[in-house]
Amino acid sequence: MHHDENCIFCKIVQRQIPSRLVYEDDEMMAFHDINPWAPVHFLIIPKEHIPSMAQLNDQHSAMLGRMMVKVDELARREGCLPYPEGGYRLMVNTGQHGGQEVHHLHLHVMGGPRPWSKG
Ligand code: AMP
Ligand code: ZN
Repeated sequence: MHHDENCIFCKIVQRQIPSRLVYEDDEMMAFHDINPWAPVHFLIIPKEHIPSMAQLNDQHSAMLGRMMVKVDELARREGCLPYPEGGYRLMVNTGQHGGQEVHHLHLHVMGGPRPWSKG
């Protein structure tokens, strides 16, 4: 599997820096955001180093699908209330104009009672 030695999320995948783990399997990892915007805020990432949405191709479709399918289960496990009264926001910042700061693809999952610090 491809890792980038300068990438902070690859270092989390390889346990070179700690994280508060939410979920892990062969192809993905989920951990708490270090600077949460909402009462529940965690990130889901592929273990493989993919810089952003812009590098995805057809070979990633199944993995991305499995990441999306995991969101609801993990959100509920982390304390988000059920749809439709509860729920969460899913966000994928891409590139400079998208506000992306860490260039390893990640899904933000944010939820919990409002107000949130942003949005
Ligand atoms: P983005 O702007 O979409 O690239 O968001 C990157 C997110 O990664 C931010 O919300 C950061 O708080 C979060 N983050 C950065 N470093 C870490 C880390 N070591 N552990 C957990 N979350 C992190
Ligand atoms: Zn990476």
